[in-house]
Amino acid sequence: MMWRSPHRHEQNYDVIVCGGGAAGVGAAVGAARAGARVCLVEKYGFLGGAATTAQVLAYCGFYQQGAKPVAAVGGVGAELLASLSKYGLDTTPFCSETTGNWIVRIEPELLKLTMDDLLVRHGVDVQLHTRVAAATRTGERIEAVTLAGMEGRWHAVADAFVDASGDANLAMLAGVPYRIGNREGLLQATTLPMRIGGVPPEVSIDRPALCASVARYNEGGEFPISRSDGGIMFRLPVSSDIWWMAVDLPMAEVSSRCFTAMEMKGRAMANDYLHMLRKHMPGFASAYLVATGPQIGVRETRHPAARYEMTLEDAAQGKTSDDAVARAAWPIELHTQPGRPTYTPLGGAGYFHVPYDAISAAGIENLWYGGRVIGADPEAYASVRVMGTAFATGEAAGVSAVDYIESNHLRNARTVANRLRANGAIV
Ligand SMILES: Cc1cc2nc3c(=O)[nH]c(=O)nc-3n(C[C@H](O)[C@H](O)[C@H](O)COP(=O)(O)OP(=O)(O)OC[C@H]3O[C@@H](n4cnc5c(N)ncnc54)[C@H](O)[C@@H]3O)c2cc1C
Repeated sequence: MMWRSPHRHEQNYDVIVCGGGAAGVGAAVGAARAGARVCLVEKYGFLGGAATTAQVLAYCGFYQQGAKPVAAVGGVGAELLASLSKYGLDTTPFCSETTGNWIVRIEPELLKLTMDDLLVRHGVDVQLHTRVAAATRTGERIEAVTLAGMEGRWHAVADAFVDASGDANLAMLAGVPYRIGNREGLLQATTLPMRIGGVPPEVSIDRPALCASVARYNEGGEFPISRSDGGIMFRLPVSSDIWWMAVDLPMAEVSSRCFTAMEMKGRAMANDYLHMLRKHMPGFASAYLVATGPQIGVRETRHPAARYEMTLEDAAQGKTSDDAVARAAWPIELHTQPGRPTYTPLGGAGYFHVPYDAISAAGIENLWYGGRVIGADPEAYASVRVMGTAFATGEAAGVSAVDYIESNHLRNARTVANRLRANGAIV
């Protein structure tokens, strides 16, 4: 028998990105296009973030609210949509029946493939099945991260880092202080989206029948449904499966114990609701659950300290900034009560600016944020967290990281914005 010793090695990069969701993909491609050697680290075996880990199958934030879809995100996000179209997905903006917002419906398997392709094409070193497990810091700089993968633990050294983990895992490991939830520590509700097959394509979704089914279920059902309007339900492209959001659960804390309880209860609820649909909805008699997960959809966890926190006023007034690096165009969508989202439109020209300091970590000079970890108060967060905006803030973070390295550690929002515009981003 040949015994082996644990394999240890160290690797050097310019930029390391933690997380392979919309923000991480935006950051990695943005940095790679700017000429950096980039490593993207993702704990699952595929990219996509909430779109593929939680079946969140609609991209929001690519377009402003209004009678016609006006683009708010370009750059890497737009390139991804164009690549998805080449794979045969119809990415035409679609106006959501229940909210009146413009969304792009996605197909998760095509998304995984398209993201793989995009990152490989840009020369990013993608490390799937790998988790950022520790960070080494000297004063106000992160020097390296410890990665835990199939081969055990190893070290990756870089000049600059992007936290696109959604949960602020890198910032937390590097010792950045964070807030959990809103001002009172309350977290937005979680949802387990359901993907339902077995409903013939010619069956249209009968909204009054859905509302009546929910009302009937709520008379004695074990898990009353909060969405009296029937919740968001539409047909998915390619498969024609039904996508439904109705399994809503409050989230008490950020812990594996709490996640376990929510996942288990969520699956029981999904099963119950499926039987309700089969019994009461016209055309749903043979419906079955194609998929949930792999994990429950988590809207909110940690908010790490940033150099600037965008506010409700910024969003409500549609505030613009000379130091802008991205636009946020989704209305303020709060899920304080499970299953009862509220929407508040943005002011000004229908978007507000994300300033450079909102994507910059407080107290660490070489860490940037992309996606739902950027600096925002609870209301501004309820707008900026969506995936379209996450592509834009992620790309801004990746380009900021490269600009910082190339300018000998200077921080200059204007040059970052110019570099972003040169690559087709909308600032
Ligand atoms: C139920 C629900 C419905 C939603 N509806 C919509 C919607 O319709 N449209 C929309 O645009 N947005 C929607 N959102 C919001 C949106 O999905 C998220 O806010 C968005 O995905 C944030 O993007 P992100 O890239 O910042 O993070 P994520 O998508 O969460 O991606 C983060 C990635 O980082 C990885 N990661 C985390 N920690 C580590 C680590 N230590 N090491 C390695 N990898 C790590 C994760 O596995 C994940 O892949 C919804 C969210 C939920 C929960």
